Amino acid sequence: MNTITRDIKCAICAHEGKVDAVDVDRATPPSKIFNVLGKDSSGYLHFRCPSCGSDLVVDPYEVIGARQMVGQRASRVSRHRSRANVERYVHVTLTAVLLVIAAFLVHNFSGWWVYVLAGALVLPASLSFWIALFGSKK
Ligand SMILES: [Zn+2]
Repeated sequence: MNTITRDIKCAICAHEGKVDAVDVDRATPPSKIFNVLGKDSSGYLHFRCPSCGSDLVVDPYEVIGARQMVGQRASRVSRHRSRANVERYVHVTLTAVLLVIAAFLVHNFSGWWVYVLAGALVLPASLSFWIALFGSKK
C-alpha cells in the first residue's frame, strides 16, 4: 500500500512530474523527474524542478493524503535576504540621523565641545555606514 504520492507539481512554472526514487518507473523521462535535494532543518523536503531549476519546498503535512505534492518556492532563502535588507535599512537610517545631528551641532553652536560631540557622533555613524555597505553581504 502506497499512501504517499509520487506526483509533484512545481508551483513556480507549473511543470508536473514524479519525485525521484529507487523504484521510480523507468519509463518516466528525465525531464519529468524531480531530484531530491534533501531535508532542511525544519524537516521540509527540497526538490529540484527539472523544468525551471528552482529549489522547491514541500510541506510534509501537505503530502499526507494528498494526490499530488506541490513544490513551493523555497522561502527560507528570501526570508534571510529580507532580514539582511532590514538590517541594512536600520544602519543607513541610523547613519543619516547621526550625521544630521552632528551637522546641526556644528552649524548652530561653536566651541571645542561641539567638535568633540560631533566627532563622537560621526565615528559610530561612519562605522554604521561601513557595516551597511559591507557587513550585511552574506
Ligand atoms: Zn519549475
